[in-house]
Amino acid sequence: MRGLKDSKQKWDFIIIGGGATGLGIAVDSASRGYSTLLLEQSDFAKATSSRSTKLVHGGVRYLQKGDVALVREALRERGYLQKNAPHLVKNQRFIIGNYRWWEKPFYTIGLTFYDLLSGGMSLGRSLPMSRAAVIKSIPRIVRENLRGGVVYHDGQFDDSRLAVNLMQTAIEQGAAVVNYAKVTQLLKSSDGQISGVVVRDELDGVNFTAEGKCIINATGIFVDNIIRMDNPSEKPMVRPSQGVHLVVDKSFLGGDDAIMIPKTSDGRVMFGVPWHNRVILGTTDIPVKEFVLEPKALEEEVDFILETAGRFLEKKPQRSDVLCVFAGLRPLAAPKNGSDGDKTKEISRSHKMLVSPSGLVTITGGKWTTYRKMAEDTVNTAVRTKKLPVKECRTAKLKIHGYFENPDRNDRMYIYGSDQEAILKMQRENPYYAEKLDLTTDFTVGEVVWAVRREMARTVDDVLARRVRVLYLDARASIALAPRVASVLASELGRDKKWEQDQVKEYTEMAGSYVMS
Ligand SMILES: Cc1cc2nc3c(=O)[nH]c(=O)nc-3n(C[C@H](O)[C@H](O)[C@H](O)COP(=O)(O)OP(=O)(O)OC[C@H]3O[C@@H](n4cnc5c(N)ncnc54)[C@H](O)[C@@H]3O)c2cc1C
Repeated sequence: MRGLKDSKQKWDFIIIGGGATGLGIAVDSASRGYSTLLLEQSDFAKATSSRSTKLVHGGVRYLQKGDVALVREALRERGYLQKNAPHLVKNQRFIIGNYRWWEKPFYTIGLTFYDLLSGGMSLGRSLPMSRAAVIKSIPRIVRENLRGGVVYHDGQFDDSRLAVNLMQTAIEQGAAVVNYAKVTQLLKSSDGQISGVVVRDELDGVNFTAEGKCIINATGIFVDNIIRMDNPSEKPMVRPSQGVHLVVDKSFLGGDDAIMIPKTSDGRVMFGVPWHNRVILGTTDIPVKEFVLEPKALEEEVDFILETAGRFLEKKPQRSDVLCVFAGLRPLAAPKNGSDGDKTKEISRSHKMLVSPSGLVTITGGKWTTYRKMAEDTVNTAVRTKKLPVKECRTAKLKIHGYFENPDRNDRMYIYGSDQEAILKMQRENPYYAEKLDLTTDFTVGEVVWAVRREMARTVDDVLARRVRVLYLDARASIALAPRVASVLASELGRDKKWEQDQVKEYTEMAGSYVMS
């Protein structure tokens, strides 16, 4: 793929950014038959798209705000995603414990409306529950004054695994997709229209150019950097908001159902969601000014999550229980009049698109859940703007790489979907690939090799954070695995000892901020 440097091809689409939004656009444009190039400055989903709450949802809280159209659209997309990536998206039961008499009827009615909005794509009916049933579902829920509860259904997924599978789908549909390729400049033709990009290969430092008809800016919180390459005086389009999650042992909930806390002390919702044998607690929502790839959790956010979870769980999580703390930045579309002050939770969660006079199409905001619809809208807009031949969108029914029905979720390898068998075969044929990375883990050498050969992993971080997710499951344990992963990577990629040592050092520094101090 890095042979692109010598390519003279003029692409129909050049997409800048390899998160959920950019990858979705690459799948959409390539599957319609447009020649497509996607450029990601780091690894796929390195930024916001690996740091979500892992929900494929309509957003119960947007319903509380009366944003019916947004919820209906997201519920429809939830349905498509569950159908097209059943290996990664599962039907998850969420329980709301009720402690006051009016809560059961109130939430049952509200959530029944939520079900109705999903049309024919409901994942299951919302129903009132007895006190005993709530305790059975969430054995560690606080029982004092518990009257009963309500159960509703939403989707739950693995965000960076889906990003990797979308990257593979885009390639299968004919796209060229490159990570560690940063767009540093936009090229313009004599009529002021953007005609291409200057790219720096972050692995070897070499610059190259790529020419294209439609240039798409899908860089999440970084969209304003690209917009300013086009027009330095353009107003900011994004207001970032930070959200933090804590990962703790599954025993804090005690079952397979998730808990939803409908009103925290700052008027938001909070979740405790089972994920890969752990529980993710979160999230927060605070405005920040810095646009960085590795945002850091604030003490106050950690305290807020622990305090809120502790009010609803019998075994109150302490800092020492936290296996990983991670922060992500939401690319919220800034309100035009700038009137929302610092209350980021008031800013629109729907996506926003901007077509600049130069023809640059920028897309931001939205949710992971709605990435497909965002992609469809973006490609339609770009095709209209650049007067390309119109071709119909195919993604509503396009199966995503790894598609596999009814996977065995008790087997941690289920995340590979239809690729699981190929990895196991590799391990059967060569016992080295079946070796565990160390005595403390089930992750194997073969998975690192697979990540390099088939999933474009290039660094220890790519493997441990976004291919096998150990960073998110137990940050400290992941640091212990770094030397072995670096050694396997070095032999796969033909790198020397110095590279290997640098990788371990870089990873250890980076992952340190995911360890609770
Ligand atoms: C705390 C939190 C919880 C969330 N929970 C959920 C949830 O449960 N469900 C849900 O549906 N949504 C959720 N979201 C929203 C969802 O994660 C985001 O909407 C989505 O991931 C945004 O994807 P993106 O591709 O627009 O941005 P990103 O994932 O940030 O991708 C942008 C990419 O552009 C790249 N880039 C930037 N500049 C350049 C350049 N010059 N050249 C090349 N590449 C460049 C970046 O490296 C990055 O990879 C959550 C968000 C947060 C922050």
